Amino acid sequence: MSIYYPKIIENLVQQLSKLPGVGRKTAERYVFHLIKQTPAQNKLLAKDLHSLANSLKFCKKCLAFSEKDICQICADDKRSDNALCVVASFQDMINIENTKSYNGKYFILNGLINTIENIGPEKINIKKLVSLTNELIKKNKKIEIILALSPTMEGETTVLYLKRLLNSPKIKISKLAQGLSTGVNLEYVDEITLSNALKYRNEIN
Ligand SMILES: [Zn+2]
Repeated sequence: MSIYYPKIIENLVQQLSKLPGVGRKTAERYVFHLIKQTPAQNKLLAKDLHSLANSLKFCKKCLAFSEKDICQICADDKRSDNALCVVASFQDMINIENTKSYNGKYFILNGLINTIENIGPEKINIKKLVSLTNELIKKNKKIEIILALSPTMEGETTVLYLKRLLNSPKIKISKLAQGLSTGVNLEYVDEITLSNALKYRNEIN
């Protein structure tokens, strides 16, 4: 810890150092940049951080981050609700949205089953997925659930678990096509590869 900085600066440096990829040196650079900004710019940044802490919610249906109880995608009538794309995280959902090749709804698991780290099915949003699936089955004759999970050990374990859990004649379950390198996190897959993996998805039940 530096003894030269006033506490206001030191506190902010320490907070920013906690961000991924930001070491102490970079955090110091950021803080000195912020000091040079106008008070109005900094107040706006503070306001946005305040909103992040106080107003950001989870969509009641898909569990994506949202400003309202139901997110834009879930509320959009033009998107079909006979396809549900199950992803591990909000960022994965954004990555798939960016491919512009999917027009159904989403569901966010908020993690993957990881037996080594003791993350069982009860620790991710599986109960909520089952209730959403039941809701969709009532409205549609047949639905497709696309398991868009990383081709890692955790992703595969989760695929197997969900395949058994959601087994029903009314549900077609598919997963992203091979072609994604094994072990890669979806977060780092480029849009074209992801778009193809989605387009050539395979039915698994
Ligand atoms: Zn939603």
